[in-house]
Order: sequence, then structure tokens, then C-alpha cells
Amino acid sequence: MWLLANDDGIHAPGLKALVAAASRLSDYVVVAPDGNRSGYSNALTLDKPLRVEQVDEQRYAVNGTPTDCVHLAINGLLPADPERVVSGINAGANLGDDALYSGTVAAAVEGRFLANTAVAFSVTSWTPSYWEDAAEVAFRLLSSLDTLRLPERTVLNVNIPDLPLAQIKGVRLTRLGHRLRASDVEPIVDPRGRRAFWIGVAGEPADSGDGTDFHAVANGYVSVTPLHADMTRYDTFSTLQGWLADL
Ligand code: MN
Repeated sequence: MWLLANDDGIHAPGLKALVAAASRLSDYVVVAPDGNRSGYSNALTLDKPLRVEQVDEQRYAVNGTPTDCVHLAINGLLPADPERVVSGINAGANLGDDALYSGTVAAAVEGRFLANTAVAFSVTSWTPSYWEDAAEVAFRLLSSLDTLRLPERTVLNVNIPDLPLAQIKGVRLTRLGHRLRASDVEPIVDPRGRRAFWIGVAGEPADSGDGTDFHAVANGYVSVTPLHADMTRYDTFSTLQGWLADL
């Protein structure tokens, strides 16, 4: 049995597309937020209880974050551990620094303790035109996962160009690129005359050359980036060892 989750919420069209793909391959259960929780990253709700509404036989809506949903599912809600977590399909790319903020990626990361590699799917438009094509890409990728054995705590971050299947050129193994700083926050005045702000859009791609996730999707390829939850910066060890020795 697979656990399906997302961050766009239980009613999102991308989740329907993921169910269409996953249900051809496995039993499944959906545990998803009751509304849009994009940008919630790996947040856990610790200051209030989580309420679960069973929508139908296979779907549960939770008044929490994407990480809450997967955490809840694998730590008590479900009678047994699912075999893997599949998250998405998100409306909007999760490239480079987006992976830090993404609830879609976070839901998959929360499945890192399970037996099989978790997968996060995103399509590279906030208003996708080709959900069925993206679902077919997800189906093909998921259907070939059985034989794949990766180290524990690995997550695959998959970004699918918003294109008809016939125009997708293939699949590329990529690394995360980087973005420039986000644009400034947008100041507004609310209806009661108080100042407020909208968070602006993510920064433009900066490190986006050949081999990056940005480059793959910009050139019509599906991007597959292996991620892990270890944020240790190993390439600073020699510098820091010298610095610490001098303290
Ligand atoms: Mn989202």
C-alpha cells in the first residue's frame, strides 16, 4: 500500500492526477491537508490537536501541514506502514532552493523511514494545462521503481515540464540548482487601513546550467533529483577543522 499526500490540499487537481497514476500500480490511501498548505516546508503542528476527516474509503483530510499528514499516517493513523510515500502532483515547480520551502518535497521527506524511496512530483506551472500528461509521466516513473534500491533516507524530487507527453524529450538525472534572492515583499494596505505584505515570488534561477534541475525542465526534460535529509556541509570540514584547532 502506498501513502499519497500533497501540499495543495485534498481537493487539488494534481492529487487527482497522482491518484490516477498510482492506483494503476498499487493499493493506496490518501492523507492530505484540508486546504492549500504550499510553502509549509517540514512544519509540524505542535500547538493544537490534528483532526482527521475521512472523506471516503481511501481518503483522509487533515487540518494540518503536509508533514503532519505523513507523520500522522505512518505513526498511528494507518494500521500498518505504507510501502512508500508519493507526494504531489504539485502545481508549480520545486527547483533548486524551492526544495527548502516546498510542502510537496517535505511530505516525501517525512516518508524517509519507510522501506522504499519516497517520491515528490511537481509540474512546472502554477496553472498546469497538461495534468493527464504529467500523470502519465508519474505512472511510468513509479511503475519502474520496484527494482530500484537506493540508500535509506533518499527522496526523489521529480519536476515535470507542463507540456503534452509527445513534446517531453525524456528524463534527466539532475542536481538542485540555486536561485537568486526572492523579489521584495509586496506592501499592501488592508481594507481597515493597516499595512501588510505579500511574500513575493521566488528568485530567478542563478545556478541553472547543464546538469541542474532548472536546465532539464527548461529544455523539455523531466528532472529527477535525488535528495537526502542530511544538511551537513561536508566540504567545509577541512576549513572548520583548522579554525577550531586555533580556538
Ligand atoms: Mn503546492
